[in-house]
Amino acid sequence: MRKIGVLTSGGDSPGMNAAIRAVVRKAIYHDFEVFGVYGGYAGLITGNIKQLELGSVGDIIHRGGTVLYSARSNEFKTEEGQQKAIEQLKRLNIEGLVVIGGDGSYRGAKALTDKGYRCICVPGTIDNDISGTEFTIGFDTALNTVIDAVDKIRDTATSHERTFIIEVMGRDAGDIALWSGLAGGAETILIPEEDYDINDIVARLHKGQERGKKHSIIIVAEGVCSGVDLARKLKEATNLDTRVSVLGHIQRGGSPTAFDRVLASRFGARAVELLLEGKGGRAVGIKENLLVDYDLSKAFEKDVTYDLSLIKLSKELSI
Ligand code: ADP
Repeated sequence: MRKIGVLTSGGDSPGMNAAIRAVVRKAIYHDFEVFGVYGGYAGLITGNIKQLELGSVGDIIHRGGTVLYSARSNEFKTEEGQQKAIEQLKRLNIEGLVVIGGDGSYRGAKALTDKGYRCICVPGTIDNDISGTEFTIGFDTALNTVIDAVDKIRDTATSHERTFIIEVMGRDAGDIALWSGLAGGAETILIPEEDYDINDIVARLHKGQERGKKHSIIIVAEGVCSGVDLARKLKEATNLDTRVSVLGHIQRGGSPTAFDRVLASRFGARAVELLLEGKGGRAVGIKENLLVDYDLSKAFEKDVTYDLSLIKLSKELSI
């Protein structure tokens, strides 16, 4: 294999640039040519593909977002769109593709794999919701952004003796809420993986008030319900006034943490190694600080190893 490609797809995440850089540098180190696909699968279909040199990825390791841009493409979900994409790759003799993205991007790569095209997936999403890897690129940065906000909101919560509801990202996955709740000392954490009972939240608030606690922080993942809805339910249940803060897209941006840069560099380089070994249809990941790679279809299995101990710990510590 002499030529490989790289693309970023779906929601951007901080550290994607560090992964692109690693793919490019590692490939060139091994005397391969690298092509960047601009605009995810949409760019693949239209052939928005350019060769990348060592200098093309200079000065990007510390930047959030993705210099290759990202897009969502419905056309790529069709048979016809996928055929067009493969034709573009064949036209340039690009024999393998590194796909950096989340669950949807992985499904796109699986579609190409099923058509006999070689893809290696790198987990790039702030949600930390890809099965088979303990961490995804961007999660640590997003978490630190949330913690920064929680700490600031806590100052006001303490000064004004208020209960704050902070809504964080996570439609199906609660890792951002869970980890930020644990790191930020939240009193209550609501995640999509677990049902909640409004009466439990009320009981916890009352218990805190009984021991003289005058403020409280509740973190809710967007997939559970909106912060505003939760505030309304609490008002109905206890007549308690709360303040709601929706963190929104600030969670996706910003300079990646050192952890995410190192993780992205390791993942990107490993993905290239796999292509050079002639492999395809695989995803890279990290387990117990060791790089792993596994069959792409495993990434779609529901992760049964979801860390229940963290949920338990957060409840034990937030009494
Ligand atoms: P993420 O990768 O962050 O989960 P999306 O779910 O938006 O983001 O997926 C990114 C892109 O991947 C979609 O716009 C689409 O082009 C492609 N994709 C998603 N699901 C599939 C699928 N089942 N088959 C083929 N392509 C898909």
